[in-house]
Amino acid sequence: MSDAVHTAHEESFEFQAEIRELLHLLIHSLYTKKEIFVRELVSNASDALDKMRYIQLAHPETGGGEIPLEIRIEVDETAKTLAISDTGIGMTRAEIVQNLGTIAKSGSMEFIKKLAEDKRGDMNLIGQFGVGFYSAFMAASEVRVITKSYRDDEPGQIWISGGSGSYTIREIPVEKRGTRIEVQLKDDASEFLSAVRLENIIKKYSNFVPYPVFVAGKQANSVSAIWTKPKNDITDEEYDEFYKFLSGSPDGPATRLHLVSDAPLSFQSVLFVPKTNFEKMGMGKLEHGPDLYARKVLIQHNCKELVPDYLRFVRGVVDSEDITLNVSRETIQDNAVLRKISRNLVKKLLDHLASMLAGRREDYLKFYGEFGRILKEGVAIDYENRQRLGKLFLYPTSAGADDAPVTLKEYSERMKEGQKAIYYLAAPDRRALDASPHLEMFRKRGIEIVYLYDPVDDFVLSGLGEFNGKPLKSADQVEPDELKDIAMPEGAEKTEGKKEDTIAFSSAFDAFLKRFREILGDRVEDVKESARLSSSPCLLVTPGSGPSIQAQKVISMIDRDFRMAKRVLEVNKDNPLVRNLVAMHGEQPESPLVSACCEQLFENAMLMEGILPDPSGMVPRIQRIMEEAASGKANRT
Ligand code: ADP
Ligand code: MG
Repeated sequence: MSDAVHTAHEESFEFQAEIRELLHLLIHSLYTKKEIFVRELVSNASDALDKMRYIQLAHPETGGGEIPLEIRIEVDETAKTLAISDTGIGMTRAEIVQNLGTIAKSGSMEFIKKLAEDKRGDMNLIGQFGVGFYSAFMAASEVRVITKSYRDDEPGQIWISGGSGSYTIREIPVEKRGTRIEVQLKDDASEFLSAVRLENIIKKYSNFVPYPVFVAGKQANSVSAIWTKPKNDITDEEYDEFYKFLSGSPDGPATRLHLVSDAPLSFQSVLFVPKTNFEKMGMGKLEHGPDLYARKVLIQHNCKELVPDYLRFVRGVVDSEDITLNVSRETIQDNAVLRKISRNLVKKLLDHLASMLAGRREDYLKFYGEFGRILKEGVAIDYENRQRLGKLFLYPTSAGADDAPVTLKEYSERMKEGQKAIYYLAAPDRRALDASPHLEMFRKRGIEIVYLYDPVDDFVLSGLGEFNGKPLKSADQVEPDELKDIAMPEGAEKTEGKKEDTIAFSSAFDAFLKRFREILGDRVEDVKESARLSSSPCLLVTPGSGPSIQAQKVISMIDRDFRMAKRVLEVNKDNPLVRNLVAMHGEQPESPLVSACCEQLFENAMLMEGILPDPSGMVPRIQRIMEEAASGKANRT
């Protein structure tokens, strides 16, 4: 008994500091339409009804089955209140404290603040971040939440707050389960006392709520499960509205896909790709996945088992007759039907994106700019769909100075006769790639190279392995032999092939290489003559088929213990500097200038790869070499 007395007693609570901050932002946010608070409260009512319907299905013994699942909106003009009532699951006292006193999703507040700054205080999207309830305070001087849990023996409770620092809760008698939110309207919010205005708001934002929403006794929404209607009966506007309803976004989607499948699995699905990527704006990974329905009954919001992580931006619904209503949320994880549906969805989605690329390239490029990086994660995860994914990637190439992106298919269709692979190379920018010695032998033959500016792409393409039956290769790992069948363009032929060298030069060059090897010691795997260079003096290559130098660079940033593979330094014997060094070494085998130049050539090659570990020795050495060069010149004059 004393317990009951204790809980009946009114208690005061302080809001979490984050909520106080949020309320402050909301009350001062000039650019948000106040009306969205109605959407948020109706959406909460709808969620509470979803939960109730689910409980009734999973536990038919639950009482209260006679109470209709519905939402009612009433106004009292004299009292200046707007009330939104639902017959959903309601809340216990502890649940109220938990749900209306703290922010559930960590990081939400950070993001909301950022959003408020970026969009000059537009809080329209807050519903997506688990704090929609508080939007009521944009229009309210006080909010009262009167609620009774569906659980037997739970007493009714009333929560009251004026939106500043605190709230109170006390027990009150409530007859039926459910929640009633009473919004005491501020003077400048009396527009929400008009039933016509409210009806319009419901039609605009809540038309697809799957329970009747009554405004002053009249049903205002259409309660339709759009995905069960024949495609031809649905207009673009309806799809867009449905997307806006689902996502809380003011814009339509970037693209949509409506799937109806009868055999072997029966399901209907409407999927959308949003226009903006919130992850890119700094929000952590959002809850993802379409909503899962079984015969129009919501089983789970954001069912992440339906799409893999790399498609986490996809929104929508999936409804299947093959899912039993009493599938528990726990067993969704290893549900064979879901897995099959998911496989099917993924293929269809990827194909849909491919046709978007083919038919609406501009739009696709916008999508790709937003979500391309997420999509690429798929290469490492989804072996089965790698080739499908490969069709969706675009890159600039050596051929287009304007960096216009090209698909791998477009690249492979214009490959040179005799070209055996798709070649790519990663470097920070176009200038670095245009100057890369690795590409000399390709450039000479007019072979196009896929340019990668994001180190991630090195992994993506090596992970992809091949495309359209053509291997994908990093240009720094290609042996010159591989290109020998590719014809030189007119005029280039003459510079091809090694110069005829005298026996004397050949043996001097060999001796020079030996010296070079001694100087570099175990810093390289080997120093040898290059067959791939035509102008640069040297370059570093990674023998074998391991990760490319750029990929290794990324790995070593992540894994401090990672040792980069030793490289081979290739020397171009036709380069004038090299020839002079060979001669100088022949005359003066111990020459310190030759040693300094060898060191410098090695470091230059590392610099070109962007992997020079310690540049401190470089400047004094360059100065020594310059001194020598200048004095040589002075001696001659
Ligand atoms: P979200 O809906 O994203 O969880 P809100 O701030 O809108 O965030 O609501 C916070 C929580 O308050 C809800 O998750 C729910 O637990 C609870 N709640 C709000 N309105 C109701 C309602 N009408 N019936 C039952 N619970 C509610
Ligand atoms: Mg909500």
